[in-house]
Amino acid sequence: MSWSFFKKIVDDCRNKQVKEFCPFIHGEPLSWKYLEKGLDYLSLMLPDTGVVIYTNGYLLDSSKTKLLLRDNISEVHFSIDGLSKQVYEQHRRGLVYERVLANVIGFLAELHKSKRRIKTHVAFTSTPQNQCEVEAFRLFWEGLVDAVEIIPCDGRGGEERLPAFTDGRQLPCFQVTSHMYILTDGSVVPCCKDWAGYTIMGNVAGQPLESIWNSKEYRRFRNDINRGTTPAAEVCHRCLTDQL
Ligand code: SF4
Repeated sequence: MSWSFFKKIVDDCRNKQVKEFCPFIHGEPLSWKYLEKGLDYLSLMLPDTGVVIYTNGYLLDSSKTKLLLRDNISEVHFSIDGLSKQVYEQHRRGLVYERVLANVIGFLAELHKSKRRIKTHVAFTSTPQNQCEVEAFRLFWEGLVDAVEIIPCDGRGGEERLPAFTDGRQLPCFQVTSHMYILTDGSVVPCCKDWAGYTIMGNVAGQPLESIWNSKEYRRFRNDINRGTTPAAEVCHRCLTDQL
């Protein structure tokens, strides 16, 4: 994301009691060239907002570790989808398991020494290929981090993947009534599943975030979710439909 979009988002969040700010949607925040400047700007402009980092840990060297051990980081989540090298690298193509493990363990050791109050999580997205490692993964990470999350793999808004839930009566929508999601081009989408921008609610470039959040279309979307009805949004249709 460009610096100007990021700055605009942060500026729009001022005096809005924003509780949580996650500087990523589906990308890797540690690869963002403005990360340090962005964290500084968040500290300055939104001092009471917790910053939540989701990372695969691959770029978490000692300088990035130092960068994350700061006052405004409230949570760090590591996405690790396997316990063995073979299964992990099958799911995280191009990454090297030993390096990720060493980085994450190194971060946890530095966090322990620093006595900062940052909550740590590991998230394991379960698939038919890594199911066999779930219990061993849980046993390995419990005690090292604050929470171990096993998350079912879902459709991520279609694209020939699995539907979000095989039982379509159960809406898998969490956080969509309390969070906004913004793509790198400034498009506001209603759900983290909408990485491709199927349902655009507005764009930060030309509109204040608050007016996008309060638009008729966005309010209708949240009302549908609150009533347990599937919203008539393209991304929801894709998310819940097996064959498109
Ligand atoms: S049904 Fe819509 S709101 Fe719910 S998880 Fe899927 S895309 Fe998100």
